[in-house]
Amino acid sequence: MKPVSYLRAGSVEEAASAHGGRTEARYLGGGTNLVDLMKLGVERPEVLVDITRLPLDDVREQPDGSVRVGATVRNSDLAAHPLIRERYPVVSQAVLSGASGQLRNMATTGGNLLQRTRCAYFQDLAKACNKRVPGSGCAAIEGVNHDHAVLGHSPHCVATNPSDLCVALAAVDAVVELAGPGGGRTVPATEFHRLPGDQPELDTVIRPGELITAVLLPALPHGAVSHYRKVRERASYAFALASVAAVLQLEDGEIRHAGIAFGGLAHRPWRARRTEAALLGTRPSPESVARAVEAELAEAVPLRDNAYKVTLARDLATQVLGSLSTTA
Ligand code: SF4
Repeated sequence: MKPVSYLRAGSVEEAASAHGGRTEARYLGGGTNLVDLMKLGVERPEVLVDITRLPLDDVREQPDGSVRVGATVRNSDLAAHPLIRERYPVVSQAVLSGASGQLRNMATTGGNLLQRTRCAYFQDLAKACNKRVPGSGCAAIEGVNHDHAVLGHSPHCVATNPSDLCVALAAVDAVVELAGPGGGRTVPATEFHRLPGDQPELDTVIRPGELITAVLLPALPHGAVSHYRKVRERASYAFALASVAAVLQLEDGEIRHAGIAFGGLAHRPWRARRTEAALLGTRPSPESVARAVEAELAEAVPLRDNAYKVTLARDLATQVLGSLSTTA
């Protein structure tokens, strides 16, 4: 039994002060990932700072038309909120495709951004894992890597990011708001998560003691349509083998705006800049969409067991973009 001290913070300042940037401290939101990892012995915090009572639990339109989502807004409340359903269907659909109803009722927006990989070797203390124990090796590279990364991986880690919400946030150019010992700052959602490189223990660019306070959703271009689609091994309560979030705006039959991101393929949500560049200014056809998707996935380097993901992602993106092109 490992003793853990617990403090319920009443303000962001109190939470940041209680955490103090200590490596043994963790913020506790819904606990749907952190508590699981504590039970497995993967996470062994000595201090838990409960942030669930902080006044960060609303979804509010800003004067510039953007929408600010507080960090403690529950996933179920986010997906059901009228502003999100009407203006950002891709966000609502992504959240609803993740986890189970019970988990979405507990999990928070900020916690969704910070959930750890579900790589089985990361969760198994008997296996080598550079993310859990830096320098110990990566059991997945020669092990069962059927659901691991095909883009952006490194010789040190081939894990994928498990979030659905974060794929949608990357596609809509969301911004993450942070508070911490050094003051507040913002980070684009596309830059919040890292590729593994030689430091796979770092999932994000968050600094010690920093707390996510909100996610800002910018107003989408007038007339834009969006969609999230995910493929998994069973109908619910499973992580993405591959997913795609897409935002398209067409004018006079030409694509004027494209925001596209893949999930399940990399250590972070993968913004498909090459696909976007190939689509902008074109009149979409099945052939042009297929070429644009291929431009991104040509970068893929599959592992022994997961070449199927490239085909899956290609088919998924082609279908979603083709369908949005006809409704935009
Ligand atoms: Fe650990 Fe990453 Fe290798 Fe999985 S893929 S065992 S998380 S280092």
